[in-house]
This record gives sequence, C-alpha cells and structure tokens, in this order.
Amino acid sequence: MDFKVVERSPFARIARIVLKSKNVAMVLGKSIHLSGVSREVFLKDEGWVAHELCHIRQFREHGYLRFLWLYLLESMRVGYYNNKYEVEARLEGMKHRRHMSPALRAASTIEPTDAPLPADTRREE
Ligand SMILES: [Zn+2]
Repeated sequence: MDFKVVERSPFARIARIVLKSKNVAMVLGKSIHLSGVSREVFLKDEGWVAHELCHIRQFREHGYLRFLWLYLLESMRVGYYNNKYEVEARLEGMKHRRHMSPALRAASTIEPTDAPLPADTRREE
C-alpha cells in the first residue's frame, strides 16, 4: 500500500502532549505521523503497522474529509474504543499475533487515544 511515515511530526506531537501519551501514531490521508516513537521501532511492530495501514485504507475508501467526519461522529456516538473504524483496525493489527503469549499480546496492544482523529498509542510496560 502507498503510504508515508513522518517522524517527529508536529501534529502527532501535539496529540501526544494533549493526551499525555508516551507515543502516538496518527494517520492523515496516506501519511502516518509519529511522535515519541522512531520510524524504525514503529516499522518493526507488525501489528501496529497493520493497524495504521487499515486507517489509511479507511481514508482512501471514504475520502479524506468525509472519513474525518465519519470518524468523529462514530466516536461521539459510541466512544473511541468502540468506534467501528478502531474495531476494524484493531482486528487487522491482531492478525499477526496468533503466536504471541497473552502477556506479550497485552503489552503490545494498540489503543485509540481520545483524539477526534485516528491517532493511536502503544501501551508499554
Ligand atoms: Zn486506530
């Protein structure tokens, strides 16, 4: 899939500070904006990459502004965790984890932040 990774993104940095997350990966169109995590570490995390690639596909399927709007509406309706776009991305991100131990799985969970955008954080030990 056609995508770009932006390290030390000011957008992701604002989200990270406001949300008090250690790391943020935020998708805007075809770009994955990172803050608090390097491109190298991010790309090594197969599950995290699959999760964010799913958001890129959602942007492509629905259109840039329309997807941002649908994402916001969905979050207001059911909350961030149950947002159907996050549920879909979460399932994508878990396909690779069948062989992991439950502890490792829990430690590498990708969770949506409370941002009105598809921005996620990786829970760390
Ligand atoms: Zn997400």
